[in-house]
Amino acid sequence: MQKKKLKEFFRKILSEIFVDKYNCIVCDSELQEKSKYGLCEDCKSKVRFVGDKICKKCGRLQLNEADYCLTCKEHKRKFDFARSCVVYDDVAKEIVRGIKFGGKKYFCKYIANFLAQKYQEAFDGVNIDVIVPVPLTKKKQIIRGYNQSWEIAKRFAEVVDLTADDKIVAKVNDTQEQARLSGKEREENILDAFEVNLPERVEGKSVLIIDDVMTTGSTASEIARALKKAKAKEVYLLTFASTKYKVEENQED
Ligand SMILES: [Zn+2]
Ligand SMILES: [Zn+2]
Repeated sequence: MQKKKLKEFFRKILSEIFVDKYNCIVCDSELQEKSKYGLCEDCKSKVRFVGDKICKKCGRLQLNEADYCLTCKEHKRKFDFARSCVVYDDVAKEIVRGIKFGGKKYFCKYIANFLAQKYQEAFDGVNIDVIVPVPLTKKKQIIRGYNQSWEIAKRFAEVVDLTADDKIVAKVNDTQEQARLSGKEREENILDAFEVNLPERVEGKSVLIIDDVMTTGSTASEIARALKKAKAKEVYLLTFASTKYKVEENQED
C-alpha cells in the first residue's frame, strides 16, 4: 500500500474508533481542537444557556419577572429545586434525540460536562451525598440498550467527584410516554411509578437526581416524593435541558 493510502486508511480507522473526538456532535463538521462540549463554534453559539431569569423552583427560563412559574405555584413540586443547563430547543433537541433514538451513547459524556459547569454555578453551598439517575423500566432499557440518565449521571459523578448510584430508585410502573400528554395527564400518569429499593442509602442524605430533559418537572417530583418518603433530607434535580415555560401548560389544569 502506498504511503499516502496507508495514511488515509489509518485516518479512517482512527476516525471510526474516535468517532466523537474530531467532529461536532450536531453538524458533524470537523473540529479544530477537542471541544469539552463536542460542539463546533457555530453550533455552540446556537445553544441557549439558561441564565438567571428562571423560576426559582423548577429552574426553567421565565418569560416574566416573577419568582415562580405558574406550574410551580399551583403544584407543590417535591424536589427542593431544579436547575438545567440549556433551553430545550434546536441544538439541545438534536443532541437529546441522538442519545435517545440514535444510539449516540457517547454524547452523554459531553452532556456531563455541561452539567458539571452548571453544578458549580448553581449548587454552591449545597452538599450532595449521592446522585441518582431517572430510572427506565427494564423493558425500555432493553429496547434502548442503555439508560441515558445513568450514562450522564456516571460521567457527571466522575467529573464532580461524587457518588452515583442506579440501584436506589426503580421504575415500577410502565407509564405512557410522557411527551404526548398534557400537564395534568403527566401528573396522573407518573403517580406511584417510582420506588426506592434501598432506603438506607438515602436516609438523612441530600440526593441529586440527574436527567436529560425536564419538561414540567412531574417525573422528578414523583421521584423526589418517593425519596422523601424514604427519609431523604433534601432532593435536587439537575438536567441538561429544560423546556421554556409555556402558558398553555396550566390551562388544562
Ligand atoms: Zn456544529
Ligand atoms: Zn417553575
